[in-house]
Amino acid sequence: MREFGETIFAEMSALAVRTGSINLGQGFPDSGPAQGVLDAAIEAIRSGANQYPPGPGLPELREAVAAQRLERYGLSYDPATEVFVTVGATEGIASAVLALVEPGDEVLVFEPYYDSYAAVIALAGAVRRPVTLRPVEGRFTFDPDELRAAVGPRTRAILVNSPHNPAGTVFTRAELETIAAVCREHDLVAITDEVYEYLTFDDAEHIPLATLDGMRERTVSISSAGKSFSVTGWKTGWVTAPAPYVRAVQTVKQFLTFTVSAPYQRAVAYALANEAQWVEELRKSLQAKRDRLVTGLEAAGFVAYRPQGTYFVQVDIRPLGFTDGIELARALPEKAGVVAIPTQVFYDNAETGAHFVRFAFCKKDEVIDEAVERLARLR
Ligand code: PMP
Ligand code: GLN
Repeated sequence: MREFGETIFAEMSALAVRTGSINLGQGFPDSGPAQGVLDAAIEAIRSGANQYPPGPGLPELREAVAAQRLERYGLSYDPATEVFVTVGATEGIASAVLALVEPGDEVLVFEPYYDSYAAVIALAGAVRRPVTLRPVEGRFTFDPDELRAAVGPRTRAILVNSPHNPAGTVFTRAELETIAAVCREHDLVAITDEVYEYLTFDDAEHIPLATLDGMRERTVSISSAGKSFSVTGWKTGWVTAPAPYVRAVQTVKQFLTFTVSAPYQRAVAYALANEAQWVEELRKSLQAKRDRLVTGLEAAGFVAYRPQGTYFVQVDIRPLGFTDGIELARALPEKAGVVAIPTQVFYDNAETGAHFVRFAFCKKDEVIDEAVERLARLR
């Protein structure tokens, strides 16, 4: 694991604290969750949900997840055998990769990729095969031929993150059809990361890969409460998949953490069942914040890629005369009192990603305004 060192999120958040900068790096909201969700967690602790819950998760949360997948996407999962709870999406992704991928197997990832993907593929002794997302008319997408060319005899799985962090892309049905066709043709397992499933903007719609023809039986779908309910510190996520996959993934998960914090499971079950309207308000407010930040970044001189979902705007730093995002991100606190994430670290093809930096907009309006005012002084 030597090459992995400290994650970029830890490095940049520490830099923000050390320099007193505005932290538009690590993606976490600066306003709280719904009051009902907080009350549900406190009530869970008070009423005694303080010992080990069952390994696969509390039945009430597995039922709430199954109900959400059914109502929202028409996907039916048996809460007893096809749903289980993980320590955030991170543990779901790690358990899925460790369970389903053998040493020497290859895993396809769209780069820039979320950093934990590279690490868990390495932990599994497997090899990642990046397929690059590139801007086409202002939106990051992949070339279907490049995706097909990345598949080889050892390819076992594909990791699909939509809405995509950090590119901001929400894959269209046509893009997902291309991915699904590759999975069916080469008998691949799809592992989907849907943590931003509610956070889509304008007319973008989150379509789970498992809803496409022939995909439910080969897809391990992962999501979590962190982003949907503004509780990133609760680290409560879930996996839905056909029972044999769930058994395999659960076998790994039980030896990583065995189970997941009981009170948060109760509170998240409550949130999934009761807070859809609150989440819709959050989505609308994030869309306005996205526009606020994009406008400010453009005024500061960056080329900003308006995301279709997530918390993040990816920018091209070259119009301001910078070429290396890592260098800029390390200097930005001193230059402007702002922290960002150099997305270069999420690329294998470092030169492709060298000039991109990511800013988060899951922040109060006044924080975004102050940050863009500071960034405007970069020129
Ligand atoms: N995947 C992506 C794309 C993310 O941005 C994050 C951060 N929320 C995670 C996974 C991790 O989610 P969790 O905090 O639920 O482990
Ligand atoms: N998912 C969040 C981001 O992309 C935070 C990740 C983390 O701290 N590991 O910024």
